[in-house]
Amino acid sequence: MTEIEPVILSHFKPEEIESLRAEHERQKQVFLGHAYLDNDGERLREAMQRMVALEANHAMETDEYAEVLYETGRIEEAIVLMKDPIKKAHYQQRLDAILKDDGAWCNCDGEKQVIRRYPSMKHGKSIAVVKCTKCEFVNVSDQL
Ligand SMILES: [Zn+2]
Repeated sequence: MTEIEPVILSHFKPEEIESLRAEHERQKQVFLGHAYLDNDGERLREAMQRMVALEANHAMETDEYAEVLYETGRIEEAIVLMKDPIKKAHYQQRLDAILKDDGAWCNCDGEKQVIRRYPSMKHGKSIAVVKCTKCEFVNVSDQL
């Protein structure tokens, strides 16, 4: 397989880089089939296999490649590459939710619904995407 290096963005703090490397290693274990797979793990593994195939076909400027970047947590690259405006907006919303304070929540009385887990670079692991059932508020946090 192609060795995929984690993307270190310039604004990352040392502890974020460390957790990113840990998540990258975990993803590699998932890819190699050495880690337990839940639905999100399966999704991640499939995305990483698609990524390798797209790279082998030199199809790295495509929306499909943007999708696999997104699914593997390389969300900032995915936003830059994605041409579909609806998907691009969705990725931007997810990034905004990741960057929110982990304790942030809306003021309405809606319930918290976990949509899925997502490999967050900020957190260095897959964590819950939590949405309010009454408004559009979303946060990516395991602390809600
Ligand atoms: Zn709400």
